[in-house]
Amino acid sequence: MTAGLAALEARLADELAFLQLPAPRWTPVREHAGQPVLDVAIIGAGMTGLACAAALVHRGMSVVALDEAPAGLEGPWATTARMETLRSPKQLAGPALGIPSLTFRAWFEAQFGRAEWDALDKIPRLQWMEYLRWYRRVLALPVLNGHRVIDLVPHGDAESGEDREGSGGTSGLVELRVEAEGRESIAWARRVVLATGRAGLGGPSVPAFAEALPRTRWAHSSDDNDYAALRGLRVGVVGAGASAMDSAATALEAGAKSVHLLVRRPDLPRINKGKGAGNPGFVAGYARLPDEWKWRIRHYINVQQVPPPRNSTQRVSRHPNAHFHLGVAIEGAVERNGALAVQTSAGPITLDFLIFATGFKVDWRQRPMVRRIAPCIRIWKDRYTPPAGQEDDELAESPDLGPAFEFQPRDGAHCPGLDRLHCLSYPATLSLGVITGDIPAVSDGAEQLAGTLAGLLYAEDIAHHYARMEVYAEPEIFGDEWVTKPLPPFEK
Ligand SMILES: Cc1cc2nc3c(=O)[nH]c(=O)nc-3n(C[C@H](O)[C@H](O)[C@H](O)COP(=O)(O)OP(=O)(O)OC[C@H]3O[C@@H](n4cnc5c(N)ncnc54)[C@H](O)[C@@H]3O)c2cc1C
Repeated sequence: MTAGLAALEARLADELAFLQLPAPRWTPVREHAGQPVLDVAIIGAGMTGLACAAALVHRGMSVVALDEAPAGLEGPWATTARMETLRSPKQLAGPALGIPSLTFRAWFEAQFGRAEWDALDKIPRLQWMEYLRWYRRVLALPVLNGHRVIDLVPHGDAESGEDREGSGGTSGLVELRVEAEGRESIAWARRVVLATGRAGLGGPSVPAFAEALPRTRWAHSSDDNDYAALRGLRVGVVGAGASAMDSAATALEAGAKSVHLLVRRPDLPRINKGKGAGNPGFVAGYARLPDEWKWRIRHYINVQQVPPPRNSTQRVSRHPNAHFHLGVAIEGAVERNGALAVQTSAGPITLDFLIFATGFKVDWRQRPMVRRIAPCIRIWKDRYTPPAGQEDDELAESPDLGPAFEFQPRDGAHCPGLDRLHCLSYPATLSLGVITGDIPAVSDGAEQLAGTLAGLLYAEDIAHHYARMEVYAEPEIFGDEWVTKPLPPFEK
């Protein structure tokens, strides 16, 4: 017997009321060019964007999350992801922001009961997306779907030397150019959060030789690839991580003639060091570590690599036409005689199609939205040189963020208002730790950033808040609670 979602939603309403959430709006209402100015615009309404929107709404700020995807199809879960279940353990509280009734477990048990929860191994991928849709609905989060942000124009602050009049009244604002239903419009916000996901500041990372191959011969694991078209083909999958297994399994299930996993390292990674490092201290303390420790930790995790989940690996190996080639690095490929002649460190192999499960990289060119600010943004290699032996291209290209998750300018760059853009996506991990997107600490990142933004907005408007305090006139007592009397006669 389950209580059902309606009962859970009633309990959630109680919990929110007990916590006095959301707080009433306290920031000044503003307009620019006849349009409302948002306290915060969030780009992306995936799991992280939703958690951040909820944390901001709970703190009484005006916020809208814009997502180019159709409603309910944000992020990878119901689009490009191909695993059967989530990779992370089911118990994680995810985007629940410390509210028990907002957890996946509460949502699941309300519908299927405790015994089903106990029997559940990992969370089915599409069920996670269903949960995120419920999360958005039940919190009534302000999301606009089908809205793609195509340009970001930060404007300088009057206080920091930019003349308020001279900047046409745009002082302290960020202009977002947005495309929706084939039309362009402008939105204004005081702060912008980039919650744009795993490839949030770039896109797929593929070897240079792939770019020279016909696009019909290869895909990246995150592409919207038609796996049915791989039926009867010899497919190579490059990589050894979770996405490599998901792509290989999907190709096999779609009827590929054979799938060859080309894995450079001599063994599959077996231990998830990042998981082992996770504890409340790591989540709260990482951002305060000196650069040397941040780099050392992230580089170590990169080198060790995250193992593919056991169930994903078995999903591949149960097919007799799956071939694991360990210690085999791909070196190049050309199209020849209607197939791909692929060179590897172990010799040539003929394939029909290649899937690169080779991860993502920071690559500003793949994100036209940031073309204007990219040349100004300081990245780690601009100011940090790692010790010999710890060189790491991925880390070197990561943005060097400040404590408010804000982009910081390169030496000599003039980009007023850059610090009004806050990065809450995977490339922020080197600067801020694991709070920037994955399920284990997504609530921590959302809460921390929302609290920081509340503080920044308050400080910016201190004169307004002071004036409000001065005119505030709600009496606590009315003068009728006591009667004044003369002092009694003095007794010697
Ligand atoms: C295949 C896959 C499986 C994963 N599995 C797990 C897992 O099991 N456990 C775990 O902890 N982590 C997992 N992750 C990592 C991480 O949790 C996910 O990437 C998750 O989707 C991150 O959420 P997000 O909201 O940060 O980004 P996303 O879910 O990617 O959302 C970003 C959103 O931004 C929108 N967007 C981007 N640019 C614009 C723009 N210019 N204008 C408007 N909208 C824009 C996109 O449409 C998208 O909806 C997985 C990642 C992948 C790729």
